[in-house]
Amino acid sequence: MAAHQFQAEVNQLLQLIIHSLYSHREIFLRELISNASDALDKLRYLSASDEAYKAISFEPAISINFDSTNGHLTIADNGIGMNEADLVENLGTIARSGTRRFMEAMAQDARKDANLIGRFGVGFYASYMVADSVSVVTRKAGEDQAWLWTSDGKGAYDIEPAARDGHGTTITLKMNDDGREFLTRWRLQELIKKYSNHIAFPIWLDWDEDEYDDKGQKKDSTVHKHEQANSAQALWSRPKTELKDEDYVEFYKNITDSDEKPLHWMHTKAEGTIEYTTLFYLPEKAPFDLYHADYKPGVKLYVRRVFITDDDKELLPPYLRFVRGVIDSEDLPLNVSREILQQNRVMTNIRSASVKKVLGELKDLSGREPDKYKAFIAEFNRPLKEGLYTDYANKEALLELIRFKSTTQDGWVSLAEYKTRMKDDQKAIYYVSGDSEDRLRQSPLLEMYRKHGIEVLLCSDEIDELVMPMVGKFGDLELKAVNRAGAEKEFDDQKDEAREKEMAPVVEKLKKALGARVKDVRLSARLSESPSCIVVDEHDPSMQMLNLMKSMGRGADMDVKPILEVNGDHALVTKALLSVNETVIADIANVLLDQALLIEGASLKDVAGFVARMNRLMTS
Ligand code: ADP
Repeated sequence: MAAHQFQAEVNQLLQLIIHSLYSHREIFLRELISNASDALDKLRYLSASDEAYKAISFEPAISINFDSTNGHLTIADNGIGMNEADLVENLGTIARSGTRRFMEAMAQDARKDANLIGRFGVGFYASYMVADSVSVVTRKAGEDQAWLWTSDGKGAYDIEPAARDGHGTTITLKMNDDGREFLTRWRLQELIKKYSNHIAFPIWLDWDEDEYDDKGQKKDSTVHKHEQANSAQALWSRPKTELKDEDYVEFYKNITDSDEKPLHWMHTKAEGTIEYTTLFYLPEKAPFDLYHADYKPGVKLYVRRVFITDDDKELLPPYLRFVRGVIDSEDLPLNVSREILQQNRVMTNIRSASVKKVLGELKDLSGREPDKYKAFIAEFNRPLKEGLYTDYANKEALLELIRFKSTTQDGWVSLAEYKTRMKDDQKAIYYVSGDSEDRLRQSPLLEMYRKHGIEVLLCSDEIDELVMPMVGKFGDLELKAVNRAGAEKEFDDQKDEAREKEMAPVVEKLKKALGARVKDVRLSARLSESPSCIVVDEHDPSMQMLNLMKSMGRGADMDVKPILEVNGDHALVTKALLSVNETVIADIANVLLDQALLIEGASLKDVAGFVARMNRLMTS
């Protein structure tokens, strides 16, 4: 028996892992399975590419055997295996840069944040969190001699000759008290499903189960069970031509843990300087936590088919948080941490290409399958608008994707469609914003637009208040809110100066009567039936914006006064013009303002006063 000392760093690493990863000790299985899978990958590659290995034919598989009576867990593969020199090199020293980086990060991270650390692939040594001792029996493909490596992880290891049928590696963990919890079929199945379901090789679970006779009495004998625990298919790594719709749907159910069908999917294999595969799904219905701050991200990151994380909100930008699926990179290191991910050039490239892919696919979908796109918009229009607010680089693409309700069309319309319907001399794209689509449709602000057949977009999402002013333009066309002073310039050519002069006295009277309640009173160019409406000044925040700010605890002391616009053709306004009775004028002025506020959805501060004035006016 040959005794060896671990390289000093291995001892440090062992201590570090045991102390800091302890609450994540279940990852030991992921690490061992990943090593087994790598060993199978290597041999498969050699047997396909190297003359010396061509003779080897093998059925790659991983088998996991547990024995709860004796406290053993074994993980075996028929992969490349190791000879004596390999064992010393691989399991006695730290050659990998990833492990070094792990140790450096650990040394720097004072908090020893277990979540952060849990994302590092720490490899074989993770076994010592759950085992008192580990033995490795291994035989290298193409060689006759097998070897046994053993260690309790306390500074030294032994290597001696051994026997093994065929090439490959069998790792046996003698579980410690904390490791015994893993010696059940359910726990192992759970971990394999969670971390290794899409390892491309079958993972077999083997165990002996007590036998019972017909009367339910335990017999002396046991029966051997053998069951495949993973799907053994990294579905996304298979060629598209091999995959049927059912396969995609099944996989969607698998990753979403649901019985729902996806609305659409896109499967992309990128080959070039950076190699990766993405499989993205659009859900049929918005996830329940879409608007929760602590939503669960829907995209999982794999590195070469090994699961890395499903809890990274930065894999795609937050506005695409409804997308479900997988990113599998060939170029990222397995032991990539969250911090490293965010600055990693490979990841940044994958991310921005993925966003372009999703947005591009949506664009195609809108043309190719309008009904599907409609269904998508009904659920996800709002997150796309968030994108306009946050993803400047993709603004143009997003502007083409968002949809609106409209005063002249049923269903959803795009800005491009709006543009094609514009009047020859129309100056801008008009929209009206407020908190309910129904109320917006009734708004007196729309009367003149309706009369002239000008389409107005209805913006009833809260976020529109932020997004629309920020977007500002679609191509060279301005987006204008009709409830703002300035938007009525559209109707400037209908201005009647004589009429304005004639109505000037009533404007003055009303302004005087309303005093501090309004910023201004104007003769309206946009009303045709209603007597009055309110608008906000060109650069003032709208009423909805103010509410939004207040709900976020801001702008509490801001008091933005509306501008009252009155319809010179309306009888109520004419009545005020002709009247000399101060009370009547004051009543009319306040009723005109209160009505307009009510229609906007505001609540009146003095309801009793409003009712009294109405009654006086009706009976006078
Ligand atoms: P990593 O797998 O990340 O390189 P590990 O500490 O887990 O780090 O393993 C170190 C090395 O030991 C591996 O790179 C590999 O060469 C070798 N090894 C581990 N497990 C096996 C196995 N099942 N079969 C063949 N070689 C293995």
